[in-house]
Amino acid sequence: MTSLPTHTEKSLGLVIDLDTCVGCHACVTACKGWNTENYGAPLADTDAYGANPVGSFLNRVHSFEVQPDSGPAQLIHFPKSCLHCADAPCVTVCPTGASYKRVEDGIVLVNETDCIGCGLCAWACPMVPARWTRRKA
Ligand code: SF4
Ligand code: SF4
Ligand code: SF4
Repeated sequence: MTSLPTHTEKSLGLVIDLDTCVGCHACVTACKGWNTENYGAPLADTDAYGANPVGSFLNRVHSFEVQPDSGPAQLIHFPKSCLHCADAPCVTVCPTGASYKRVEDGIVLVNETDCIGCGLCAWACPMVPARWTRRKA
């Protein structure tokens, strides 16, 4: 298992205002594009335009319908991107040290050369899609 640093010089994270998120999925598309087209490995799609599309995403948006006591039903959109948790379970569960928190700024990263693809980090992440998702679209 991998230890978190005892301290970080900064504690950067990601904050999303759910009151203003409209669930447009632009962040999902941008994330997939960035990680597919730049330094990362392809995030594959299967049967993307067919009857049973399946794809891999590092971010996605869940939308929930809520019914207030009075007034019309409302949609709440919940983008599930990595929040770079202070006490990141995806790091402490990693058997190889591939998943780590950067001391300089607190950002959580994966060193691809040390990753064995065991998937433990994905199971440990409370935001599961933040780390690794295969889903039916
Ligand atoms: S889905 Fe993503 S890009 Fe769209 S409004 Fe919400 S946070 Fe912003
Ligand atoms: S991958 Fe999940 S557990 Fe790890 S820092 Fe991001 S949100 Fe937190
Ligand atoms: S999949 Fe890779 S980064 Fe995730 S826990 Fe396993 S070795 Fe660590």
